[in-house]
Amino acid sequence: MTQPSEINLLAAPHVRSLHAYTPGLQPKESGWVKLNTNENPYPPSPRVAEAITRELGGALRLYPDPLSSAVRRAFAQLHGLAENQVIVGNGSDDVLNLLVRAFAGGAGRGVAYAMPSYSLYPVLVAIENGATVEVPFTREMTLPVEALARSEASLLLLTSPNAPTGVGFRTAELEKLAQAFRGILVIDEAYADFAEENAMALVSRYPRVVVTRTLSKSHGLAGLRVGFAAGRPEVIDLLDRVRDSYNVNRLSQAGAIAALGDTGYLADVVARIKRTRAAAEAGFRARGWFTYPSQTNFLFTEPRTADGRTGPDVAKACYEHLLAQKVLVRYFGSHALTRNFLRITVGTNAEMEALSRAIESWPLTA
Ligand code: PMP
Repeated sequence: MTQPSEINLLAAPHVRSLHAYTPGLQPKESGWVKLNTNENPYPPSPRVAEAITRELGGALRLYPDPLSSAVRRAFAQLHGLAENQVIVGNGSDDVLNLLVRAFAGGAGRGVAYAMPSYSLYPVLVAIENGATVEVPFTREMTLPVEALARSEASLLLLTSPNAPTGVGFRTAELEKLAQAFRGILVIDEAYADFAEENAMALVSRYPRVVVTRTLSKSHGLAGLRVGFAAGRPEVIDLLDRVRDSYNVNRLSQAGAIAALGDTGYLADVVARIKRTRAAAEAGFRARGWFTYPSQTNFLFTEPRTADGRTGPDVAKACYEHLLAQKVLVRYFGSHALTRNFLRITVGTNAEMEALSRAIESWPLTA
């Protein structure tokens, strides 16, 4: 009989040593205040369910459009792009994966990203057996333009606004980077709808700039799995070559078109979340908790005890206390610039009040 260790040996060495991405917890039972994975607390546009319902039944017998052409067109029209400048994926994670698959092994020194940022990036690079170049942020979280440009990577993955800090970057800064960096610059704009600026205009001005977006956050469709990349047709063509032929299912394509079409609904939801965000941000600061100014649907805040202590033990204790109160937030303990902090998704006003009450009941709070 084949032993598990022998099975291991049949896998490529880099696969044997892989560590999978750790997603945030998705509790099965109800009763949680779930502020840990930056989902939208509001349902998606009602037009999405209507469109998906129309698609149910006989149509499911047939494969979906392999190119997601109608979705590409809808996204392109919204952003003043041509259809051949857009690719659609099974979430933006899929699109990021295609970018790494296509460019990680190209001319250059591997794949660069700033730290801390989206923790999926190193996992995607490891799957391709690629090299990583990590460029550190400082506590100020300003964009290290020079160091990123000097990385000489074939691909640079930049989260903007950044995660898990929520800090936004000026388009002028990103443009400097686009001018200085020689590889493909991916600006991961998962949270751009909550930000003051976005870099979509750079796609048409710089041939090596790619902007990615998702329906998972502002559109409230994390469960539908639809994401996008916008770039030059040459770049999109390369991504299409490494894509699964039917990477976006029929229901997701129908739902995506409906969601993209309901711009009024999107604007309302985003405005609500921004109002709640402003109140929560002010609330943390009033407690004396340092909080980065957020341009996303989450806040990165540094818990502080009544006697003025901060640090990993304090943040972890606060996380554990909230967990015991069934308030789920995210703690990233593995990096010096994240381990004193909690990342907290902006929920409904009622959820944020429940969070406040849970913090009030923390024995270490003022
Ligand atoms: N980029 C960033 C920075 C994210 O935080 C996320 C959500 N975890 C994603 C991309 C992926 O989102 P999705 O695959 O749901 O589109």
